Amino acid sequence: MTASRTLTGIGVSPGVAIAPARIVDARFPDVPDRSIGASEVEGELARLRAAIDAVVLHLEQLRERVRERAGPVESGIFDAQILMAKDPDFLASVEYLITHNNLSAETAFEFKALEMRVAWSGAGNLRLRERLADLAAVQTRVLRHLMGWSEDDLVMGTIAGPVIVVAQEISPGLTVQLDREHLVGMISVEGTRTSHAAILAHSLGIPAVMGVEGALDRITQGATVMLDGRAGTVVIDPSQDEVLRTRHLVTRRQKLELTFEGVLDQPSVTPDGCTITLQGNVDLPEEIDLAVRHGAEGVGLLRTEFLVTGKAQLPTEEEQVAYFRRIASAFAPHAVTIRTFDLGGDKFPAAFEAPAEANPALGWRSVRVCLDQEEVFRPQLRAILRAARGRNLRFMIPLVTSVDEVVQTRRLLQEEARSLAEAGVPAAESVPLGVMIETPAAVLLADHLARVSDFFSVGTNDLTQYTLAVDRGNARLAPRFTPHDPAVVRQLATIESAARAGNIPLSVCGEMASDPLTAILLLGLGYRVLSVAPPTILMLKWIIRAVPIAVCRSAALAALEVPGAAAVEQVLAEAVSPHLDLAQLRL
Ligand code: PEP
Ligand code: MG
Repeated sequence: MTASRTLTGIGVSPGVAIAPARIVDARFPDVPDRSIGASEVEGELARLRAAIDAVVLHLEQLRERVRERAGPVESGIFDAQILMAKDPDFLASVEYLITHNNLSAETAFEFKALEMRVAWSGAGNLRLRERLADLAAVQTRVLRHLMGWSEDDLVMGTIAGPVIVVAQEISPGLTVQLDREHLVGMISVEGTRTSHAAILAHSLGIPAVMGVEGALDRITQGATVMLDGRAGTVVIDPSQDEVLRTRHLVTRRQKLELTFEGVLDQPSVTPDGCTITLQGNVDLPEEIDLAVRHGAEGVGLLRTEFLVTGKAQLPTEEEQVAYFRRIASAFAPHAVTIRTFDLGGDKFPAAFEAPAEANPALGWRSVRVCLDQEEVFRPQLRAILRAARGRNLRFMIPLVTSVDEVVQTRRLLQEEARSLAEAGVPAAESVPLGVMIETPAAVLLADHLARVSDFFSVGTNDLTQYTLAVDRGNARLAPRFTPHDPAVVRQLATIESAARAGNIPLSVCGEMASDPLTAILLLGLGYRVLSVAPPTILMLKWIIRAVPIAVCRSAALAALEVPGAAAVEQVLAEAVSPHLDLAQLRL
């Protein structure tokens, strides 16, 4: 009985949650082709108008709620959708089909929406393609209404009590819009520890289990579920006994957290005197406080996709300037490292999904998009230059595979700096330009890249994905996603020597730096700056203060000699066991 109520997946964000399940129904209604008689035309026209009115009213209410709770930038998505829902030309064309072709309201609406989708998908104009996301959102709402389906909103202010969201896939877009006041946990069929929704959940401290096969078949709407985001387990309708046992575990974990908090005011130095800098990865503005409170010495990775994900439009230069200034001020005098838009793969706003690509992870993404679409890149570079005046900012570009990408970026930066100066706009003359090392190509070219860049930051999530040819978001492959694989470890050593030879600063911002064992491996390989999800900063400092760097170094040397990931894990665990109780850390 217990077994059938227990599901397992990948614990991607620690913590325990017990709450009713809220199944996210993101289905697009299947609209049947339906013709109508001449006498029904008036009725269908009235039904269409009523549906539009209801959708517009609903969108206006959502906009208000999100604006109150999050601000005008977040609520902006609804402005575009409201305008589109009310578009008189579009509605006239739907009405024409109802009147002259005798189609039902939903059949006519879907026909016209599809027509528009096809036209926009093929458009070279990025702004037009961006509007596809709005079109899809409006289309779903109107069709659901016309077909008598209920609304399914989980955005801020629409949920009454605590819930655990259960979905096929939790996209970064969904995560940023979710009502975080009442969202106490997340369960999804797809996803892994390094998928972006998981990274967001971890950063926000929302317990989450992903890669849970059968979650949607087994969990029913409203059923009580208990999830453990560290163990990766989900229990449906837990018994009192099970809840009690879990609560006991939570108390033990809380005690452990208190132990970590004890090092808050202590320096981040190993017992044998090696100083390590701990920075925070920031994906959303609400993580700033936690990172500052946990003593982050700056931001090693400021993901800027938040400004785009789930939004209708790209952020303006002004919005970016304001955001970058705010973050830089929060962490002053420490540096904040802005990563330029890393769009693509699983981080495109829905609008960018067209044209579809067979291999998005190897496709038109990251710095490639920025270099190809200067109207996207230049405003971001200008915003960085403007915000950097009098503030400690640097920036880096993702998914670099060639020296040329860095050279081109520097040229654009210089051009924008010149044009700002000519226009008399206050801005920094330049900003340190870093390279994210997250492809094997960048590792092989690290010596050349060190000559054209101001610092390196290693993105181990992508480096592991591209080295091992393992999709980082594929739950089935999760056991094969091993950042401590010798194939990755050897590259980490190469990067470290290239940065040292080139005399440029080096850090790691991938998830690997957040795990106790692999963090020790990085320290042993010579990495002295780690940027991690804010909730893990104190645990890492506690570990750093417990394990001598000499132990890390000999563990890393041993790891470089063994043939497989399991063996690496073993040598690391053996080396640190006299200093750390790993079982306790993984409680
Ligand atoms: C990485 O790839 O390791 C990284 C830090 O970037 P992201 O996870 O955003 O791709
Ligand atoms: Mg990456």
